Amino acid sequence: RYAYVNGRFVPHTDAVVHVEDRGYQFADGVYEVVTIVGGRLVDEQGHLDRLTRSLNELRIAWPVSPRVLKILMRRLIGLNRVTQGTIYLQITRGVAPRDFKFPKHVESSLVLITKRAGAFATPAQLQDGVKVITIPDIRWLRRDIKSVSLLPQVLGKQQAVEAGAFEAWQVDPDGNVTEGCSSNAWIVTSDGTLVTRYANNLILNGVTRLSILKLAQESGIRFEERPFSVEEAYAAREAFVSSASTFVMPVTRIDDRTVGDGKPGALSGKLRHGYLDYARERGAS
Ligand code: PLP
Repeated sequence: RYAYVNGRFVPHTDAVVHVEDRGYQFADGVYEVVTIVGGRLVDEQGHLDRLTRSLNELRIAWPVSPRVLKILMRRLIGLNRVTQGTIYLQITRGVAPRDFKFPKHVESSLVLITKRAGAFATPAQLQDGVKVITIPDIRWLRRDIKSVSLLPQVLGKQQAVEAGAFEAWQVDPDGNVTEGCSSNAWIVTSDGTLVTRYANNLILNGVTRLSILKLAQESGIRFEERPFSVEEAYAAREAFVSSASTFVMPVTRIDDRTVGDGKPGALSGKLRHGYLDYARERGAS
């Protein structure tokens, strides 16, 4: 198995970066996770568009052009013979003696890693749904940038695991859910309306989120982009989370409450299948 590190494809075990890489010292970098289905990249353009935006917001230079990046990703996927899984890409501001201000004349660093996945969800997760817990959102105010600074999410996920949950939904000071630690949060209200928070600086605008919204629009599903409270989520008919690596994952417990009838909802199922069909047919390149 190989990884790509700053210009070279190297065996995964030898894939190392310099100790003065700013990603390592300052979390001064950005990343993307793109899903691979049937050997092809799902929603690749959406991920590259968001990467462009993250780099621009942080004024980090492209390590290679987007065109070359696409070629490198395909080469690594081919080398590692990944037909189903994910590719992780990380770009940091580069390697320079430790100093907070931007270094001059450095090249940004690029790392690519693939991961195989037998399945994107277990049969039990799909049949029974998963549990989420709610926790205070303690992150910074530029959550729209996909930065590698993920300590609040690391702590949140660990708390979720220790509570027997799949994900932790982060909650703003008004009591509204922002998003999961590595996913966007959705509910279906008792009148059948799909609800997810609108994307501003307080959440990461998921590529999967955008595809689901498009799918909802095309299928005539009623939806609203607005904040929803934890109380509203407790009373929802359905809930789910979305991300590149989990697509649509049904949520049937929030804290110690049961969502709806405790089974994955019909609309969640429809959107999961709809998104998987889209990924296999139109959304992959
Ligand atoms: N929100 C956060 C905080 C995330 O980290 C992620 C993905 O890792 C998402 C949402 C979902 O985004 P996407 O659908 O692009 O994977």
